[in-house]
Amino acid sequence: MMFETNPAQSAVSVPKVELRDISKTFSGDVETVRALTNISLSVAAGEFITLIGPSGSGKSTLLNLIVGLSEPDSGEINIDGEKYDRRADKVAYMPQRDLLMPWRTILENVIIPLQLKGIPDAQAHTQATELLPLFGLGGFASALPFHLSGGMRQRAAFLRTILMEREILLLDEPFGALDALTRRELQDWLLELWRRFQQTVIFITHDVEEALYLGDRVIVLSPRPGKIIHTLEVALPRPRRQGMIALPDFGRQVTELLDALGVAI
Ligand code: ADP
Ligand code: MG
Repeated sequence: MMFETNPAQSAVSVPKVELRDISKTFSGDVETVRALTNISLSVAAGEFITLIGPSGSGKSTLLNLIVGLSEPDSGEINIDGEKYDRRADKVAYMPQRDLLMPWRTILENVIIPLQLKGIPDAQAHTQATELLPLFGLGGFASALPFHLSGGMRQRAAFLRTILMEREILLLDEPFGALDALTRRELQDWLLELWRRFQQTVIFITHDVEEALYLGDRVIVLSPRPGKIIHTLEVALPRPRRQGMIALPDFGRQVTELLDALGVAI
């Protein structure tokens, strides 16, 4: 034989993010909280995963583990097939409460990741300024955050996350605090962004419709300790259109998710 080939390598593509049997417990002075138990999940490159579960089911904890802010008690987290000890290099993380610095202008807020990379201010300003219109923030470079609507502030926080230029986006309930119309607008805007930049996305929500509308796959966590109790491959074509939420197919999948969440229907 002339070449040794590794069939596993050539036939199967390596998951972008792989969680193997992850468990996480928090030990406090008074009580011990089991937050996550036996979580296994493979996310393909370019896939859009939505993660849904009741409050306290460990959703935020899971993202913290993936980004490397804390370590699991047991199990393994691989990125691109490697046990990565500098995961933060590949991951952009937008935590549940992502605040802009109130004393910095919008432009000064969004260039923070570029400054952290050591890019000179003038170049960072040019690069970010070019992107502001795409994020619906053209003309607001020198505004302070309190001058902007909630939706605009959220888009600024997103732009800051995107400027980290990572292949993996972890978003923790980014639209949770927005009114319904702004939320729909931002959902479509996020999907367009994802289509352009083709990142791998893990998106947390507590909204069943949002989970379906955005995701390729919806992962459902149980109440604490969180474990995966249901996986739904979303049967909706792309590009998604808001009108799809009125389709019988959509309603059927909403029912399936509510059922998995144990919500009486
Ligand atoms: P979710 O995001 O699904 O609402 P979290 O991941 O924030 O849930 O929390 C899961 C559980 O773990 C909760 O009971 C929470 O109080 C607990 N928890 C999260 N982070 C910590 C921590 N750093 N120390 C102690 N307990 C924590
Ligand atoms: Mg949370």
